[in-house]
Amino acid sequence: MTRLLLWDVDRTLLVGGGVGVEAYAAAFTAVTGLPWAGSLIAAGRTDLSITPELFAQHGITEADPYLEAFFARYADEFAERRTAMAAHGRVLPGVPEVLAALHDHPGVVQTLVTGNIAAVGVGKVAAFGLDRWLDTAVGAYGDDHAVRSELVGRARERAEAAHGPFADDEVLVIGDTVLDVGAALAAGVVAVGVATGPATAQELAAAGAHHVLDDLSDVDAAVALLAGVSSAARPR
Ligand SMILES: [Mg+2]
Repeated sequence: MTRLLLWDVDRTLLVGGGVGVEAYAAAFTAVTGLPWAGSLIAAGRTDLSITPELFAQHGITEADPYLEAFFARYADEFAERRTAMAAHGRVLPGVPEVLAALHDHPGVVQTLVTGNIAAVGVGKVAAFGLDRWLDTAVGAYGDDHAVRSELVGRARERAEAAHGPFADDEVLVIGDTVLDVGAALAAGVVAVGVATGPATAQELAAAGAHHVLDDLSDVDAAVALLAGVSSAARPR
């Protein structure tokens, strides 16, 4: 294996339709006994980073003692809503075709680097059948570390343990936020921005993305870029 693709989930592969937030809120109330009144811009952030802030919004300044039970309950609440996610959410244009083509490409390993806890990140892609093209066991998730760039390194370590070493310019982070781009740059790998989330293509480029796509609907172009068969991706 020569190339490692680290996919973000929300607004890069799919849109969840609010089901993840519902599960999060239900888990919060179940674990704390408090009504949910949280609001936070979560895009691009990790659950380990977001959760203490959301607990603090509800007057719980020390979230650590709750985290293990909270994440376990969040995983359960999400699992109960997985079919609702398939009904209310959607896969973004070109995503299944791009993942399938890259899966068939010799030398390519695809997994997730997402701020979602593992059970939810994998559950979201599985709700749409996208997991068949991903080696989710070597991914890194929002319950691994609070800092997104650390997740990039964690996924790379796991992938290299399973598949052997990857060169820096053969590791690509694909995501929709400037935080995805920043995490790739901080980890010394290639950043590919996809402008299907809150950031415009210009903002992703300004953040330092090596490549920016409006979306993945041009399947051949996306596969060529991500498989590295056309212009080579080079970190700056
Ligand atoms: Mg995202």
